[in-house]
Amino acid sequence: MLNLAQNLNQVNTSINKIKHNAIVEVVAVSKTFSEQLIQNAYDCGQRKFGENYPQELSRKALQLSDLNIEWHFIGNIQSNKTQLIAKYASWVHTITQFHHAKRLNDQRPTDLPPLQVLIEVNISHEQNKLGIDNLHELIQLAQEISTLPRLKLRGLMGIASNSHDPQQIKAQFQQLNTYLTQLNTYNSSQLDQLSMGMSQDYPLAIEAGATLLRIGSHIFGARTYEN
Ligand SMILES: *Cc1c(COP(=O)(O)O)cnc(C)c1O
Repeated sequence: MLNLAQNLNQVNTSINKIKHNAIVEVVAVSKTFSEQLIQNAYDCGQRKFGENYPQELSRKALQLSDLNIEWHFIGNIQSNKTQLIAKYASWVHTITQFHHAKRLNDQRPTDLPPLQVLIEVNISHEQNKLGIDNLHELIQLAQEISTLPRLKLRGLMGIASNSHDPQQIKAQFQQLNTYLTQLNTYNSSQLDQLSMGMSQDYPLAIEAGATLLRIGSHIFGARTYEN
């Protein structure tokens, strides 16, 4: 049986062992899991939740609107769904095109604070993965986003290869960290957020400087369609 409190405890204990004095926060990835399970995790103290699908995000955000949840959108962005994301998310981790950023900016309700955003970088260099894959384009996209008043660029997001080689995974996380430093140097910015690390690889991500971990199955259990 699922023991959410125990899972959250284990995740937080293992993070605390590795992170030293760094600030590292968990986004509990709740896609496919019920509102009830999110409520249970909330009752254990979890406040940041991650969703991949705009419709599912809006349904859950409406149903749980009494709770003080910070919703993170971590799925691929489709132009025709940006309105729901702009309305219900506090953070978006997956900006890869200016066109999407512009729509989110224009659709962000004026009674809400600016949407906090991250640029997704393709650190695995896999063809089927989304994300910026060179520094030049990254600098350009960051500069373009900085002209949008309803968005606040905070840093970068990456997904490592689904590999069994910890050296390879760690090198990819370190590359994301290096990109952030280079971007800050070039643009004279002070972006400080690195969203990297999932259930299988988050200890490596912490070692490479992650500030936001996106953890699903280690908290909620394996995802199945029945969820
Ligand atoms: C589903 C998902 C996660 C969580 O994956 P787990 O392996 O269950 O921890 C993290 N990041 C992204 C982008 C996802 O789509």
